[in-house]
Amino acid sequence: MDAIRCLLAENLARVEERIAAACQRAGRSRDSVTLVAVTKTVSVEIANELVLLGLRDLGENRPQELWRKRELIPEVRWHLIGHLQRNKIERTVPMVHRIHSIDSFRLLKALDQYGPATVLLEFNCSDEPTKGGFSPSEVDQVIEALSGLRQLRVTGLMTMAALEADPERCRPTFQRLRRLRDQIHAAYPLQELSMGMSNDFEVAIEEGATWIRLGSVLFEGLSR
Ligand SMILES: *Cc1c(COP(=O)(O)O)cnc(C)c1O
Repeated sequence: MDAIRCLLAENLARVEERIAAACQRAGRSRDSVTLVAVTKTVSVEIANELVLLGLRDLGENRPQELWRKRELIPEVRWHLIGHLQRNKIERTVPMVHRIHSIDSFRLLKALDQYGPATVLLEFNCSDEPTKGGFSPSEVDQVIEALSGLRQLRVTGLMTMAALEADPERCRPTFQRLRRLRDQIHAAYPLQELSMGMSNDFEVAIEEGATWIRLGSVLFEGLSR
């Protein structure tokens, strides 16, 4: 485990430098953006090494895998960043700090009926038909749905950019999400932007990300 710990520490230090530099370029404070380490491709043991290195936010895209890892690593804040089926609401909500990926009106309504939780709405801002989430054209219905919520707290928006060789090309996607956030904010207060992955997180920070979700960049060099 020592070699692995060393490698993860180096990766994390490099990522941390890049986050700090992006914050500086954008005139933002480092603590205005939080790194969520996405552990979906690694074992519980590796995920735990990240915790030993000081990370406090871990993310998974599948509910069952989140349940499993959280049982073994209960002391951090867990984030669900992938699709949640309605029959898994009851088990998942008490375990998570945030659900980033509310992708339909049906799910929004079911969560609100279940009880208090803190969530973000996923928007498809890159016009890729294979991606889930609300369409920016649905923003009026989204505002209407938000104003009818009883128990659920929606704190922001999430998006995934297309995989681009040049991350600069992801900038319009992130700008689009920020404008949607600002537009909704006029009617329903939203602060958070969950955007930026290994390929594009610096651009996302420059465009206002408050949560970045990083997987592969943290695990570079690890034989898996
Ligand atoms: C896997 C995943 C990530 C992390 O992706 P990397 O490119 O490995 O950093 C971020 N967000 C979501 C929703 C994911 O599924």
